[in-house]
Amino acid sequence: MNAAIIGYGKSGAAAEKLLKLKGIEAIDIYDGNPVLGFKAIEDFRDGYDITVVSPGVDRAKYKNLPSSVTSEIELAYEFMPDGAEILAVTGTNGKSTTTHLTAQILNNMGVKAAACGNIGLPFAEAVLDDTVRVFVIELSSFQTELLNNFEAAGACIINVTPDHLDRYGSMDKYYGAKLRLMKFVKDGGLFVCGPDKKIITEASRYRFRTVTVDGNFKDYPGLCGSLLDFGSFRADLSKFSLFGRHNALNLAFALLLASSVKEMRRDVTPYVENLTGMPHRTELAGVFNGVRWINDSKGTNVDSVATALSSLKKPSWLLMGGRDKKSDYTVLKDLINEGVTGLCYFGEAAPVIRGQLSGLVNVREESFASLEDAVRFCAAEAVPGATVLLSPGCSSFDEFKNYEDRGEKFVSYVRKYAGKEKC
Ligand code: ADP
Repeated sequence: MNAAIIGYGKSGAAAEKLLKLKGIEAIDIYDGNPVLGFKAIEDFRDGYDITVVSPGVDRAKYKNLPSSVTSEIELAYEFMPDGAEILAVTGTNGKSTTTHLTAQILNNMGVKAAACGNIGLPFAEAVLDDTVRVFVIELSSFQTELLNNFEAAGACIINVTPDHLDRYGSMDKYYGAKLRLMKFVKDGGLFVCGPDKKIITEASRYRFRTVTVDGNFKDYPGLCGSLLDFGSFRADLSKFSLFGRHNALNLAFALLLASSVKEMRRDVTPYVENLTGMPHRTELAGVFNGVRWINDSKGTNVDSVATALSSLKKPSWLLMGGRDKKSDYTVLKDLINEGVTGLCYFGEAAPVIRGQLSGLVNVREESFASLEDAVRFCAAEAVPGATVLLSPGCSSFDEFKNYEDRGEKFVSYVRKYAGKEKC
């Protein structure tokens, strides 16, 4: 047997380990980055027993790739410990947070769970721990596209809003990739989604149990004071440390998914009290000279910028930019006019975003070549009491390795230009 790995990132490297565990030693690696010294993807010729494609590789760009391929997720699925279950999480925004919350809740309930997949720890690595009972797997649309042999006990699609249109070309295609996850939820399993007609209509064709979560908590679950009420169980939101309605919604998804593996009854607040969030998501970077700096580097699409803006009390300066994904930024105009004093556009996408928003927003606008220049400017301009929010609405690849790198650099620029922490 021989195998090819197309795209050698974290998941490609984890897939290589599993192929070796399967006894396959003849493995050719192809990667778009020639610096790594692998074969170029353009040079791939079919003839392998197994071809593992990384989610980062846009197959539409390579006519030489076979139609029948597998992925790191599917390979890992073959290695699942006996009796272990899968909970799969997808959506445009909130995936990592929901995945992280679900695994923490299960662990709090005494069920050993691992958060893995797109969140950072490849499923192919997580699956090697045979003490894990539940794998909570975050799946991007690029990963759901590649699924064929996979079964989840429970799954959710949190939301579908415009993103990755540079790769999909249309919202229909993007929806298609997300909705594909439903095919892999077992009959009688649980499927949780938001009040999205397209998702609910598609879900009605399957034999899993669908629960719709209403983000305003008017319908289900209900909100009574600070009690989030799911009927058979409830949790006190005042004991939940993540802020913003979007995080309460992520918690609702997480509680429902966890309850599909182990029953919850009555007051489940003890499972919620110690839950933590993830870095680079509307995270406080520091308070310097009375100015609050918020790092939302993971806000890589327009909807997440809207979420960050709505969850903060009046950000004075909003920093947007990076690499454009063919997004429509004009939908942000009302939120910007309501709560923002000034907009700083930075990086490659600065002229694109400015081109769309200028004339629609009545706030100060500044453009910068880099994020560092934008932070330097805000450090001089922001007055005590102000909030400066980095919520780029774009990917980071023009200037940084990834969103984590961008978030870490943002914090270091803030420290460099805004001075010593006062409180
Ligand atoms: P993902 O993994 O899908 O990118 P994250 O949990 O990492 O999602 O959150 C990324 C950003 O998306 C957050 O910083 C926040 O601005 C926004 N966000 C998080 N949860 C939600 C949600 N349920 N609905 C809308 N936006 C959200």
